[in-house]
Amino acid sequence: MSKTIGIDLGTTNSCVAYIEGGEPTVIVSSDGSRTTPSVVAFSKNGERMVGQVAKRQAITNSARTVSSIKRQMGSDYRVQIDGKSYTPQEISAMILQKLKTDAEAFLGETVTDAVITVPAYFTDAQRQATKDAGTIAGLNVKRIINEPTAAALAYGIDKEAPQKIMVYDLGGGTFDVSILDISADVVEVLATAGNNHLGGDDFDQCVTDYLVDHFRASTGIDLTGDAVAMQRVREAAEKAKIELSGLMTTTVNLPFLTMDASGPKHMEITLTRAKFDEMTRYLVDSTMGPLQQALKDSGLTAAQISKVLMVGGSSRIPAVQEAVKRFLGKEPFKGVNPDECVAMGAAIQGGVMTGDVKSLVLLDVTPMSLGVETVGNVFAKLIDRNTTLPVEKSQIFTTASSFQTAVEIHVLQGESEMASRNRTLGRFRLEGIRRSMRGKPQIEVTFAIDSNGIVNVSAKDLDTGNRQQIVITNSGNMSPEDVERAQREAAQYLLEDKRRKADSALRDRADALIFRGESLAGKLSREDAGRIEKPLKEVKKLKDGKNPAKLKDACDRLEEMLNYADKADGAYDTKFTK
Ligand code: AMP
Repeated sequence: MSKTIGIDLGTTNSCVAYIEGGEPTVIVSSDGSRTTPSVVAFSKNGERMVGQVAKRQAITNSARTVSSIKRQMGSDYRVQIDGKSYTPQEISAMILQKLKTDAEAFLGETVTDAVITVPAYFTDAQRQATKDAGTIAGLNVKRIINEPTAAALAYGIDKEAPQKIMVYDLGGGTFDVSILDISADVVEVLATAGNNHLGGDDFDQCVTDYLVDHFRASTGIDLTGDAVAMQRVREAAEKAKIELSGLMTTTVNLPFLTMDASGPKHMEITLTRAKFDEMTRYLVDSTMGPLQQALKDSGLTAAQISKVLMVGGSSRIPAVQEAVKRFLGKEPFKGVNPDECVAMGAAIQGGVMTGDVKSLVLLDVTPMSLGVETVGNVFAKLIDRNTTLPVEKSQIFTTASSFQTAVEIHVLQGESEMASRNRTLGRFRLEGIRRSMRGKPQIEVTFAIDSNGIVNVSAKDLDTGNRQQIVITNSGNMSPEDVERAQREAAQYLLEDKRRKADSALRDRADALIFRGESLAGKLSREDAGRIEKPLKEVKKLKDGKNPAKLKDACDRLEEMLNYADKADGAYDTKFTK
């Protein structure tokens, strides 16, 4: 059976792992690193770059570089490049495609099955979008699991004693905190809370704003309109932030950042950890609310939590660790690698599904309450937040006016009792209700959430048996046809990319042969030099053309001649034939 890979599709970096001999192992990318920047870039000649290469050129090509796309998953945001519009799913699929290709190169086999992680606090639309991104990339997404759950799996797989742990996950763009109950063969999520729009990017933004303000105050120059300078400042801000996790002070040094009438202007600003902590305190503080919420929902006290795992790159910020320590009264556990444990946990889940890892039951929960709108803007809750998945619940509703022949089912997610304050997941109509007095028809509404956290809602008229249902997708999401089209385009791109790489390798080969031929020609007798002249000319002629098959034949012929000629070089008495 082919392997199932576990993918941590991160805001900033992504990581892939698989199960080797029952143990999760991180896959090294084609650039030789254990994580891949979640960055996609488009060159001016239509080529696509993903990962390290894309990140490296971000400064000089910022308008055509896409990062932190995870923040837009499930929304109707679009990336516009060269007149083409890409959904967040399509951009994420480009990252996933690269991870898939790297995994295949590493494992030496085709990989299709995958478990992909999402933040626990991702909404239904965001989960669906992530699944679609996997499909577009040519992956069979066997399961979507929550990142903290994956981290707990990676941590707890060989721990025997039952224990309650907290996972504090602060990544590049999302934050969530989960409380889990781990026993020998069951990992149960008791509660989860978070914020989908809080992460390392926000800390970077604070530092960026500080640097820009400081620069404006000292030079009078406003950098905000200069895209290239801003990209450099943003990168330097992130670097400074990371350095301040280990050092008490750092200097941002950006020579030739901009120009004015008096000449080039450089940035040199010293930033202390104290200043950084002061600027970002509100961000750290804002993670404490969800922490409290999750603890309350789990019914536990801080003293009952035996360990707190710190996950996500931003959990390395000392002020973050301090705040968690203060809140729980215990030192955060540092024994897991925050960059890799999520992918490893996803691989374990994949291993459980293929039977490579001993049976282990994962009981996850839904992060937000779900229900429908009823008369008077009232939110009728069918599923409470933190209900264990999979779950199915039904409730009977009726009509609000007499002779009503249709009802609209407005599906919502959220915690407010007022429907309008919650988030719309979708709407659908159930028609053909028999005319009768209000309150008489019986409409059974059923919510089903599968183990991926994906919601399906149906409504049935118990009188006629008429039934309508929707799998929740929101306006930002793609229809199955769009996903299929994008999948075809992605597969086509992969083929073209392979061809482009093969063409470029062939041209490199042609260059090398031309160089070899020209160097050799001077050393050969005139007659022998004449023998390589024709194939050499041919390769030169075809090298920049559009016929790779012909160029390859010509290269083969020239190489053969050169091999003979090599032998003849220095031994002119042995004439080569052909
Ligand atoms: P993730 O999405 O889990 O890969 O987290 C990436 C985020 O973590 C980015 O915002 C990084 O800048 C941030 N990060 C990585 N290492 C550190 C560090 N040592 N200190 C502070 N932030 C970090």
